[in-house]
Amino acid sequence: MTATHHTEVILHAQIKAFYYGTSLALRNIDLPVYKNRITALIGPSGCGKSTLLRCFNRLNDLIEGTQIDGQILFNNRNIYHLQEDAILLRRRISMVFQKPNPFPKSIYNNIAFGPRIQGYQGNLDEIVEHSLHQASLWDEVKDRLKDNALSLSGGQQQRLCIARALAIQPEVILMDEPCSALDPLSTRQIEELMHNLKSQSTLVIVTHNMQQAARISDLTAFLNVELQAGNRIGELVEYDTTHVIFHHPAKEITHQYVTGRFG
Ligand code: ADP
Repeated sequence: MTATHHTEVILHAQIKAFYYGTSLALRNIDLPVYKNRITALIGPSGCGKSTLLRCFNRLNDLIEGTQIDGQILFNNRNIYHLQEDAILLRRRISMVFQKPNPFPKSIYNNIAFGPRIQGYQGNLDEIVEHSLHQASLWDEVKDRLKDNALSLSGGQQQRLCIARALAIQPEVILMDEPCSALDPLSTRQIEELMHNLKSQSTLVIVTHNMQQAARISDLTAFLNVELQAGNRIGELVEYDTTHVIFHHPAKEITHQYVTGRFG
């Protein structure tokens, strides 16, 4: 990989195998995530992008019967070590989902919720304003902070969910197809926002939209599905700078995927 995108490795997936019950969903994943960069996970449907994303903050633990063989290092500590607290971990590595999921509360209370349960003693108004600014939503909602968050448009709701994540100052933000339910204008706003967040956070994004990966990410991991005895197993095919993956990939299959020949 070219050296220009190398910063400190903040997260490192080293997964030998990941299972849903007895079915193998991922194998042989070695993927370092670089700090203050946007890493995109791309690949055909069912290749395990979301599964891998959920490994990064142990969200798969909430799905019964899942099992991971391997480790994920976060700042050089294995998050799957018994003594690690998954709830605390998810505050440091937060997730934004495909469908905006604000709480059915006021805009203000959506943002204040996380800091409050963490027992934050400082000025909540400041955190709310700052987070909404960071998520490029402040100007649109500053006069209606008491309104129900569900009265916002889809794009605004998604920016609110990002603001809610930012309010607890996560080190990494995982995004699972954050724009796929949004119109092109809202998509642009979220992409700009992601770009602005890089200086203070690290982003890992799953997207089925290759133009989006090419526009916003610094690094791209291409996963594919291998068929074996009737099972579909996700594997990491190639990981490099986004430029290399889209313009000079090492593998023919990557070239075929990024040029839209399948998937
Ligand atoms: P992608 O995000 O690339 O579309 P997923 O991670 O959603 O892929 O899925 C990878 C594989 O794991 C698929 O075969 C899918 O059916 C399976 N899978 C995903 N979620 C679950 C689940 N909750 N229970 C069982 N199998 C699942």
